[in-house]
Amino acid sequence: MKFGGTSVANIERIKNVADIIKNKKKDNSKLVVVVSAMAGVTNDLVQKSKSISKNFSNEEYDVLLSSGEQVTSALLSACLIEKNIQARSMLAWQIPIVTEGQHKNSRILSLNSKAILNYLDMNYVVVIPGFQGISEKMRVSTIGRGGSDASAVALAKALDADRCEIYTDVEGIFTTNPEICDKAKKIEKISYDEILEMSSLGAKVMQSSSVQKAMMNDIEIFVKSTFSPEKSGTQILSEDRISYNQVITGVASSNDDAKITLIGVKDKPGVASAIFKPLNDQNIIVDMIVQNISADSKKTDVTFTVKRDDMDKTKKMLENLKKDIGYDNLLTDNKVAKVSIVGAGMITHPGVAYKMFNALSLKKINILVISTSEIRISVLVNDSNVELAVKTLHSAFELD
Ligand code: ADP
Ligand code: ASP
Ligand code: MG
Repeated sequence: MKFGGTSVANIERIKNVADIIKNKKKDNSKLVVVVSAMAGVTNDLVQKSKSISKNFSNEEYDVLLSSGEQVTSALLSACLIEKNIQARSMLAWQIPIVTEGQHKNSRILSLNSKAILNYLDMNYVVVIPGFQGISEKMRVSTIGRGGSDASAVALAKALDADRCEIYTDVEGIFTTNPEICDKAKKIEKISYDEILEMSSLGAKVMQSSSVQKAMMNDIEIFVKSTFSPEKSGTQILSEDRISYNQVITGVASSNDDAKITLIGVKDKPGVASAIFKPLNDQNIIVDMIVQNISADSKKTDVTFTVKRDDMDKTKKMLENLKKDIGYDNLLTDNKVAKVSIVGAGMITHPGVAYKMFNALSLKKINILVISTSEIRISVLVNDSNVELAVKTLHSAFELD
């Protein structure tokens, strides 16, 4: 059972979580509980780091940020003990949960389940802070924002759990973000592929790397509400166990992208590679890409998107390489948002793209860039249009 930040936002809510666990324990289930930091705590710690330095040490950043989860694990364990349930916290280094990769964004490499199983055998509820790990150099690490979901899935796998339940502040996964569109509906069952697309396109209800891990290991996930735990929530499972009667399963949006356009790029072999190599060297992720061929076929414009945080860095780098790449002008725009429709039903239904573009055009929403995969279509629009675009597509595809 994993409880997110809003679910443990204050003492009252932590007591409520303890009651949910106590109730679950009635049938003698062996329970491992993963907790997030209390709502707002991680953001507050990020701000504190910024007030010390713009170049705050990555190693210390992880020590700082992981502390939020540690606080919750102790409060919840003690609350369970208070309710006469045997419980203990187990921090990442005590298990250990070993991670690899860079600080701030590590990945779980291995997890020793022995100590946990030992305590489960003694009938303890084991409470584990999510988001944190320990590197091979024995330094505290964190696994990326929203990472407690990934901690829960990794534990479910290592312990060969019967169920993995993600408790959050909504009743499950909805057809779109219920905060943006009040016509959003709860989805009963969704495939790994679909929620993977939706989460990487902005639906933060499940962190995308946690879905990836669940998909690779066939771990069934139930997303449920902490505030009405009796309700069924959403089940995430493999596509062959779902019957599709809808073309589109959901609509997602994100506003952390920025658009970069190089105007007047020479149309010759090697140019695209010259543009994207330096970005690759700096680990900058490029998402949507379009290239227009000019009428005289001598010059082209290249437009692509990067994460908004990477925009200034990318701009500087490409300006420094202006002579080597050979272009006339560089434009950037960070007031853009990406809106996507996702659905495995798309594979067997023609005309989805037309229907999407037509619906947007009727609302006079201009499309800046388009990208597609087998089960999704994304468009980049001005960020002032994002809410209208989401609502328009939600009703155009009969999800209201
Ligand atoms: P937690 O703190 O429990 O991890 P998050 O805030 O990370 O919770 O994720 C839950 C939130 O995700 C919801 O409150 C909602 O605002 C947002 N969200 C975005 N898209 C969706 C969606 N398609 N379905 C449900 N929630 C969504
Ligand atoms: N507390 C961390 C965050 O806010 C991890 C999590 O909640 O999943 O990103
Ligand atoms: Mg989350």
